[in-house]
Amino acid sequence: MRERESMVNADLVREKALELGFADVGFTTAEPFEHQTKVLAERRQEYAWVKNLGLDLEAGVDPAQVLPGAKSIIVLLELYFGQAFPKSLENHFGRCYLDDDRVTKDGLALRVRAFRSYLQDQGIKVKIPWNLSHRLAAARAGLGDFGKNCLFYSNKVGRKSSWVLPIALVVDAEFPPGEPSMEVGCPSWCKNACLTACPTGALQGPRKLDPRRCISYLSYYGEGLTPLELREPMGLWVYGCDRCQNACPRNAPWLAAELPMNPRAAAKADDFELTKLLHMDVGYFKNRIWPHMFYMSEKDIWRWKMNVARVMGNTQDQVFVPELSQAFHREPDERVRAMCAWSLGRLGGPEAKLALQSARAPGQGLVAQEVAWALEKLH
Ligand code: SF4
Ligand code: SF4
Repeated sequence: MRERESMVNADLVREKALELGFADVGFTTAEPFEHQTKVLAERRQEYAWVKNLGLDLEAGVDPAQVLPGAKSIIVLLELYFGQAFPKSLENHFGRCYLDDDRVTKDGLALRVRAFRSYLQDQGIKVKIPWNLSHRLAAARAGLGDFGKNCLFYSNKVGRKSSWVLPIALVVDAEFPPGEPSMEVGCPSWCKNACLTACPTGALQGPRKLDPRRCISYLSYYGEGLTPLELREPMGLWVYGCDRCQNACPRNAPWLAAELPMNPRAAAKADDFELTKLLHMDVGYFKNRIWPHMFYMSEKDIWRWKMNVARVMGNTQDQVFVPELSQAFHREPDERVRAMCAWSLGRLGGPEAKLALQSARAPGQGLVAQEVAWALEKLH
């Protein structure tokens, strides 16, 4: 009788999730993710920065630590790339950040809240822990498997692509668990296109990522002036990186789909123009940028600008020479000015050379050194 009741509940829960616009839903047990304990212990150094951000991944291994009396995990799948994004955004920002409402709470957050309230109305206790691996929970619920690029691939949503965000809810009610699918699901004919596409060597082998070398991490947490050897490989990415997903043949069917434009992303595309980002002041950052991409706070505005300056150089578009030259003279932060100098050197041409010559300053400081190197390159 009890089992039949659970089944009924599971069907109703599934129905509710789909009604709220989630692309898929699954269930798994609340058993600890034992294997993850070993993985985290082996990779403690690589993930030390996560702890510094206040996220204790080790504590998230056991759902019972998150919610005493936990019996199941419900996993919702959100297709975050269900609508198209403006090219001007896709070229420079990871797609998962293009309609991210974790601060504004006016999109996905409303649906998650509605789902949570629905469960609570049934007398079910719910916790959404951000230190538990939502991807592992999704795979254990049988909603998909992994790629060698460490990403989770749905077994049906988005033409079985990785453009999905799993959201795991730990609950104190029992639901029949799905068949786990924790393995790598890549076709044998793919010769590791993701590993080859990764420009900074972050993907060191199948399912082996060093997050500290990943462009996503470097773009919002990288310390100091971006090292010379990473500036070209980091290419056109300002915030996040989708290269290993774009290169993956498992994602090709969805990338080929004709999608309607995402109006929310389209509405903010102008605010994210490279030129505006390079010259923005704190007010502009706080009002127009931070609510949508918030991993860097106001005190890190220099990193935003440094990234944009690097990207301008990598565009190989002369149109940015006056912008970089202007920023070089106006920006107070030497890391931004140093990157402007590097980018002027990378763009080259008579105008860039003139700008660098007029910027030449005595001394051996960071900026003077970059200007000297850039001029040397141009000669
Ligand atoms: S997101 Fe970019 S840098 Fe990070 S692993 Fe993928 S390709 Fe490499
Ligand atoms: S690029 Fe190839 S190896 Fe990498 S995740 Fe995609 S299918 Fe797997």
